[in-house]
Amino acid sequence: MAHSVPPLPYDYNALEPHIDEQTMRIHHDKHHATYVANLNKAVVDAPDLAAMTPLDIIQNLDAVPEALANAVRNNAGGHVNHTMFWEIMGPGGGGEPTGPLADAIAADLGGLTAAQEAVNAAGLGRFGSGWTWIVVGPDAKLAIVATPNQDNPLMDGAGTPILGIDVWEHAYYLKHQNKRADYLTGWWNVINWTAVSDRYTAAIG
Ligand code: MN
Repeated sequence: MAHSVPPLPYDYNALEPHIDEQTMRIHHDKHHATYVANLNKAVVDAPDLAAMTPLDIIQNLDAVPEALANAVRNNAGGHVNHTMFWEIMGPGGGGEPTGPLADAIAADLGGLTAAQEAVNAAGLGRFGSGWTWIVVGPDAKLAIVATPNQDNPLMDGAGTPILGIDVWEHAYYLKHQNKRADYLTGWWNVINWTAVSDRYTAAIG
């Protein structure tokens, strides 16, 4: 089973002006596609791995042979992370969550404004490349974590991500250059809270 890049569920320019069309084209068609191509290359001679879903792979990295460990971790992580990233954004996004997710954000993270500030701070504090996340932790409470590279919170059991913001420069450099803070602030205008709520519901079972 060869992995493939899921189609972007909206137009490349749908997230303007917060995320520009050219960034979306390069990010989805080149960066994500490269993670998928390199994942396929890494598992081509490893039938056990080739039969696994990307989500299964990143939760079972101990099973990956040493020679493939870095390639599989980075590229399966990149595939999973970007697949989620496209889904939790969308045109007409932003605003506030409702229902059980809103209640959990209030109870566990001190409300939406505090949560946004903490997610952004974790993203700003991530030296180099990585991601900032809201996860459902093993205690079923929301928590904020940041990871390096293409690591995902599922890799070390930190929790199940319901939201993640890519803070690699490739995600924002064309529009924002070095100003990661501006990108993070603007990002909340493209969030698809319905998708995030669905992920929350699935994560808490
Ligand atoms: Mn990226």
